[in-house]
Amino acid sequence: MDNRFDSSETLRYLPFDSHGHVSSAGLDCLIDNDARAVLGNPRNKCAACYRQFNRMDHLVEHMRVSFHSNHEPVCGVCNKHFRYFDSLREHLIGPLPKLECRNIFSIRGCRFCLTIQDTPASRRAHEGTCQFSWANAALIPRMANLGIRSNDGGLYGRGPQAVAMACKMVGGGSDGSLDLCGRVCIIDESENIIFQTYVKPPIPVTNYRYEVTGIRPEMLRDAMGLKHVQKRIQDILCNGEPMWKIRPGNKCGKARILVGHGLDHDLDRLQIEYPQSMIRDTEKYPPLMKTSRLSNSLKYLSQTYLGYDIHAGGAQDPYDDCIAAMRLYLKMRGQDHFKDEYPLASDPQNRNNFATWRQAELERMSPDELMMISRSDYYCWCLDA
Ligand SMILES: [Zn+2]
Ligand SMILES: [Zn+2]
Ligand SMILES: [Zn+2]
Ligand SMILES: [Zn+2]
Repeated sequence: MDNRFDSSETLRYLPFDSHGHVSSAGLDCLIDNDARAVLGNPRNKCAACYRQFNRMDHLVEHMRVSFHSNHEPVCGVCNKHFRYFDSLREHLIGPLPKLECRNIFSIRGCRFCLTIQDTPASRRAHEGTCQFSWANAALIPRMANLGIRSNDGGLYGRGPQAVAMACKMVGGGSDGSLDLCGRVCIIDESENIIFQTYVKPPIPVTNYRYEVTGIRPEMLRDAMGLKHVQKRIQDILCNGEPMWKIRPGNKCGKARILVGHGLDHDLDRLQIEYPQSMIRDTEKYPPLMKTSRLSNSLKYLSQTYLGYDIHAGGAQDPYDDCIAAMRLYLKMRGQDHFKDEYPLASDPQNRNNFATWRQAELERMSPDELMMISRSDYYCWCLDA
């Protein structure tokens, strides 16, 4: 029999106090005797997500597969960790929010980055800069607007520079369903266009998809050929660094981080190869995924996290997609996280943290101690800063 008490569905309806403890008053009607015995033992409560287990080995197993870390979205009121910003938003705003956290969030919380500010007044000031709009992008110096920590060298004092790329696809093949890159744009971190061109596909275009792409036949007739475009993009990405030298963790290199939404498809259509370690895709970044683990659209992400609409109607400009992806990346990179020397569960130094041969030792540890050796299973973009 599985005697775990680990149903987050059940826990979600329970009354918690400010430390995430379940208050006993509301429990009697909800939980049977077995579970009550469990909840009386805070030793078996996960220090990150507050799920409770009636056996320590179940908590150890939970930690082994949860990959909790300092890089997860965290509630600014009760410190509970979440895998997705969408689930943190549910916790703070709803549906089914945790009431105490919602009450504080509704007075002092930022709708966009979901942080809690000190006072309602500082919340208003913060939200003004946290929300992007075309108006404030023009008025406020961009670096200040983004809240990026930069040294006196400004943009160029830190790790690798990032560029964002987006494409618009026209259709090829007999039914026009084959995606062919018809237009590409690349911007730098300050939203300046580095490269923008129409692209002449190597095979005939059978559907220009004008309503979405805004591309007409005459725009592609004398456009840059795909081979030439590939070369230009590769030069921009590698930035003088030979491709073989671009390795994970090689932060001093000149090669640029590539930001975008759905980059696998873009790169495939452009027939460009670039190391995964240099790619930051807003479509695949776990904290930005739906709670169903599916990816969100760029339109949803910019509405929700940046506070403005893209693709509001008419043809889509790849420049708009570049900007949205870059702003999302910079927001994620700008998060103020505690940084371990070896942040990933896959780092060799962490490989034995939850090894099964340590089981007895792990079961003697406190939930906080287990949390201290737990590491992330994804690369948090704050590590680029
Ligand atoms: Zn947990
Ligand atoms: Zn982080
Ligand atoms: Zn909370
Ligand atoms: Zn904010």
